[in-house]
Amino acid sequence: MSEVRVRFAPSPTGFLHIGGARTALFNWLYARHHGGKFFLRIEDTDRLRSTDEAIEAILDGMRWLGLDWDRWEGGSGETVRQTERFDLYKEKVQELLEQGKAYPCYCTASELDERRKLAMKEKRIPRYDGRCRERSEPAPDLPFAIRFKASPDGKIVVNDMVKGQVTFESKTVDDLIIARSNGTPTYNLTVVVDDVAMGITHVIRGDDHLNNTPRQIQLYQALGYPIPKFAHLPMILGSDKARLSKRHGATAVQQYRDEGYLPQAMVNYLVRLGWSHQDQELFALDELIEKFAVEEVGTSAAIFNPEKLNWVNAHYIKTGKPEALIPPLLPHLEQAGLQKETLDFKALHRVILILQERSRNMKELAESAACYFLDDIPYDEKTKKFLNPESVPILQAVLKQLTDAPFEHNSLKAALETVCESMELKLAKVAQPIRAAVTGKVVSPGIFDVLETLGKEKALKRIDKQIALLTG
Ligand code: GLU
Repeated sequence: MSEVRVRFAPSPTGFLHIGGARTALFNWLYARHHGGKFFLRIEDTDRLRSTDEAIEAILDGMRWLGLDWDRWEGGSGETVRQTERFDLYKEKVQELLEQGKAYPCYCTASELDERRKLAMKEKRIPRYDGRCRERSEPAPDLPFAIRFKASPDGKIVVNDMVKGQVTFESKTVDDLIIARSNGTPTYNLTVVVDDVAMGITHVIRGDDHLNNTPRQIQLYQALGYPIPKFAHLPMILGSDKARLSKRHGATAVQQYRDEGYLPQAMVNYLVRLGWSHQDQELFALDELIEKFAVEEVGTSAAIFNPEKLNWVNAHYIKTGKPEALIPPLLPHLEQAGLQKETLDFKALHRVILILQERSRNMKELAESAACYFLDDIPYDEKTKKFLNPESVPILQAVLKQLTDAPFEHNSLKAALETVCESMELKLAKVAQPIRAAVTGKVVSPGIFDVLETLGKEKALKRIDKQIALLTG
């Protein structure tokens, strides 16, 4: 097989959507598996809806997921921008006009709309009736669009790598507009011209584009281009089987990052939306590259299951090396009030070790970690249950015992056991007020781990402060 060349071609009108990210990932894996090229093409011809922020958001999301893209040798930058390629599209439209494969259409938007409504009323499939196709009268001095002369004969067969053979009757493909009356080219033309120019061998995209494929195939043929292979990925649906939308929760990849998901969790979750390898759920990245095959993508829609994503995320947090968890944790620590510059990384390493087992996401991990570093910690409402006049004698006894105790697990255990014995209390009764006093929370890792990690100075100061507040 010649070099595999694929692309992800988002329209920059919003964030990087979960569905787009999965398309990008499948393209990326396909390219990396075959040692080929993966390009990023920004389809920004719709100038009203495309924004620079959206482009940045897409690049940012791709980088976060670790999907690096190759520079196209024919382009001028990191990505291919369609707005920089208008001359080529114009040239191709002109070529089709000159060869009699396209024609000017003077029908106005309102005329087309009226005809469309009539067709609907008469229960006909709305399609362009071809009235400008064989015009014999001289061209009027009016704005016009350019339509492609679709061939009505025969069938168009797509041998899709996912869907198998899909056949379209050519007569169902109407004469599509390839350039609008303001001169701007339309999606079906630009996508074909660019895929050819970039030498794309496999078009891997969502199956919402399947109906465009016969139109594009006719354009490839009209322009005398070789036709690439197609792989149309099934849609991603919410649990109610409706197309995934904001109603189902976050749909933007960045939102998941901000909510504390790890990129490798996201990648592992996304890859399983449509693709499977026996019943394996978790894959190291190089394993994914080795095993992924677009031909194995299923044909039925994938259901987005947030609980499973949470499970995958918790798995990567639990099993991650602390040093690998630190970089993605930093922005969340910042959110929790900790500046990177002031952090003691050795201590952070220890804090992660005691918290990773019980954290569902990085945001939660950062929020739990903050109390080990802050001078003033916030106190959860629920701590009132354990920080009340009744707990003062316990806290006082604990403070006394801990003052001379070395802050390591066994000595801390012995010290607290002494308190329990002398006060005839169970360890839980003693541990809860200490936990509340030193962490500001009612749940935390084991109390000895908490105290050891926090260190003597902070622990005793916090207990002392609570006693002072309670005895006021
Ligand atoms: N720009 C199109 C979109 O965002 C994708 C086109 C394609 O992959 O062919 O849906």
